[in-house]
Amino acid sequence: MTPPRLARELGILLAAFLALALIALGAQRLFFPTRTASPDVPRELDDALGPIVRREVRRLQKVREEPKVEAGISAIMGRLAPALPKAAGAKIDVLVVDSPDVNAFTLPGGLICVDTGLVRALPTADEMAGVLGHELSHAVSRDPLALLARQLGTATVINAVSGGQGAAVMETMFRELINVHYGREAEDRADAFAVDLLAAAGLDPHAFPRALAHIRDAAPERPELLKYLDPHSPIDRRIALAEQRAGAEKTAVRALPVDWRGLVGALSE
Ligand SMILES: [Zn+2]
Repeated sequence: MTPPRLARELGILLAAFLALALIALGAQRLFFPTRTASPDVPRELDDALGPIVRREVRRLQKVREEPKVEAGISAIMGRLAPALPKAAGAKIDVLVVDSPDVNAFTLPGGLICVDTGLVRALPTADEMAGVLGHELSHAVSRDPLALLARQLGTATVINAVSGGQGAAVMETMFRELINVHYGREAEDRADAFAVDLLAAAGLDPHAFPRALAHIRDAAPERPELLKYLDPHSPIDRRIALAEQRAGAEKTAVRALPVDWRGLVGALSE
């Protein structure tokens, strides 16, 4: 997709978000960010978007809620969440959604989505913990909303607020954000965050570079499914950096009690 089209669509998307958030917050209270290099997006906007985004994902995607899937993901998050920085803020949820894509992505409002194609590509729960660590960096830094905000023009906001674009725009938002990368700096930061978080949670920090390698090799005949990979950030460089960082961590590893094979098996039932 060409940058101008992306910019326009993301602008429309954020505008729609703002419109919905306005409704959710009872209007007036919000300050609209103006177009700056790094807009200060009110945290209330993320908070207001949380329930809307969760509802829309459930409407647009089949969410896998088998007991083994939920138990596994919550065990992983149960280890990672206490190791997050104190300032992490609002609650972050993880949903497994049906898709052959080898992908995970973070939406505004603290929602991480993991495609079943990615779950199947990873052989261990520790590797999934590494991928979630990367996405948690985006969630904690509120990268999704900041990215949308950077594309925003005031006129677009006003148009969308008065235009009431609703569900169709949310659908476009969903399609766009699943394929978004935040630039090399933010992606490197998220990779480093993932390695550090694994170590802080008592998990093997090498699980993250191992996950990247499994993602790289997941679908040799169908590279279009590898949406997790960022063309601007070569995967072998990321793996090497993550390995280097993991090698410097001192971790007392504690086993992660997850029936990962059972979880993956439950997705095929
Ligand atoms: Zn990322």
